[in-house]
Amino acid sequence: MKILFIVSEIEGIVKTGGLADFARALPWALKKMHHDVRVVMPKYRAVQYPGLEGSWPLSFLLNHATRYGCLVFHARHDGIPLRLIEHHDFFSRDGLYDNGYTAYPDNALRFAFLCKAALEQCLQEGWAPDIVHCNDWQTALAAYYLKEHYPHDPVLKHTRSVLTVHNGAFQGKTEAKWLDGLGISWDRFAGGQVEHNGLVNLLKSGILSADKINAVSPGYAKELLAKASSHELWYCYTARHHDFTGILNGCDYTMWNPEKDPYLPHRFSADNLKGKHLCKKNLQQRMGLPQRKEVPIFGMISRLTDQKGFDYLIPAMEQVLNQGSAVQFVLLGSGNPVYASRLHHLQNRHREKMSFVNGYDVALSHLIEAGSDFFMMPSLFEPCGLNQLYSLAYGTLPVIRSTGGLKDTVVALSHDFSNADQATGIDFNAPDTYHCSEAIHRAMALFNNHKAVYDRLQQTAMGQLFTWDMCAAEYEALYHEAFE
Ligand code: ADP
Repeated sequence: MKILFIVSEIEGIVKTGGLADFARALPWALKKMHHDVRVVMPKYRAVQYPGLEGSWPLSFLLNHATRYGCLVFHARHDGIPLRLIEHHDFFSRDGLYDNGYTAYPDNALRFAFLCKAALEQCLQEGWAPDIVHCNDWQTALAAYYLKEHYPHDPVLKHTRSVLTVHNGAFQGKTEAKWLDGLGISWDRFAGGQVEHNGLVNLLKSGILSADKINAVSPGYAKELLAKASSHELWYCYTARHHDFTGILNGCDYTMWNPEKDPYLPHRFSADNLKGKHLCKKNLQQRMGLPQRKEVPIFGMISRLTDQKGFDYLIPAMEQVLNQGSAVQFVLLGSGNPVYASRLHHLQNRHREKMSFVNGYDVALSHLIEAGSDFFMMPSLFEPCGLNQLYSLAYGTLPVIRSTGGLKDTVVALSHDFSNADQATGIDFNAPDTYHCSEAIHRAMALFNNHKAVYDRLQQTAMGQLFTWDMCAAEYEALYHEAFE
């Protein structure tokens, strides 16, 4: 099949979160299955791609009146043809989606432009994709445009669209005054095709226009169908429930394999964990914590945002630390400065037990995965989550809130240990400080008092496999279903 993959970030080029990991791994896995995949993304200021093969000018009408021009750079990323859309006003900015504090006010227009450019460069090249694969609100409009602007186009009239929802909380909302500029008709707005609570909602336009829709885990798909956990769009997902499914993300074991990881000072495997113990020592040294192997380390790598559970995690850590427990917390994250300052504050009061790095650091993220004993993922909601998959591979037991993709990928140890043969982590349910700190205590008790059970969980965790090949096979089936 010919697949046009439109996305706003790609691992190895520019990344803010798990969407980028997906955008690198899935096209690659589909290519291995002999599909003809092309990927389109913006050429942001941060994109300094060395392997550019040239550029072509492209000009098109974004709406009925306004013609735009841009340059389409050609390159290959991991052997996959890549088209980078350069438009100085739209993409040559410091941030991808915001200026560090607030979202760019013209985001809807910027990404509408990306969607239109992605489709138009197909016309220019005479390359007729079978599938346009859209990802999140940024590229959801491509599904809308296909239906509304190109139904009779000789190149695109047979093309079907798939929308993957990586995070349904972000919806690309903007005021109705942008409608004309976006090329969205007032009829469609008034008819509810793109309107939610009086605003233009780009994600909604994709949910209602795409031929097939999926969330990045079956658990999250179920949550999106329920009113309370759907980020308000449950009525759209339920209206499309026959075309809506969940497909679990994979883990890129070429980058996350403790036996080969180039970022680690020592390598290890399930059969020989000596390297993991040495990584723990190295991590403690790197983070300025006492090098004590008998003290459990809880690691965390995360965007600093309310989605990740910081509102109850920070007080829960504080409680555990104030109780004088033998524990160490190691956190790496960037994002909301309020959470960063609360974490710094906690660190200042517990220098021997808590270390926080405010930043984005790939090498350190690998060391945290390798050197920790537990990995914290207490998310309020989690569409799939990747870090818990890395943690399992590195024998670092995830402590999760039971939600979305976390619930789908981690088998929680029961209180009576009756499922110790299958379990791979610890969970809690209610998103509050009490239950979060209780889960940390249970994890500490497991580590301190039930070492044999901990070891068993660790072995099971390291035997789990979530490959992108499995994931790509499910997307291939979904693409075929889009033609039924
Ligand atoms: P989300 O996409 O919601 O941010 P995921 O767990 O799905 O969460 O993916 C996050 C990805 O970004 C992972 O690959 C993780 O290791 C990486 N990451 C997040 N924050 C940092 C950071 N501060 N430093 C290094 N890597 C990070």
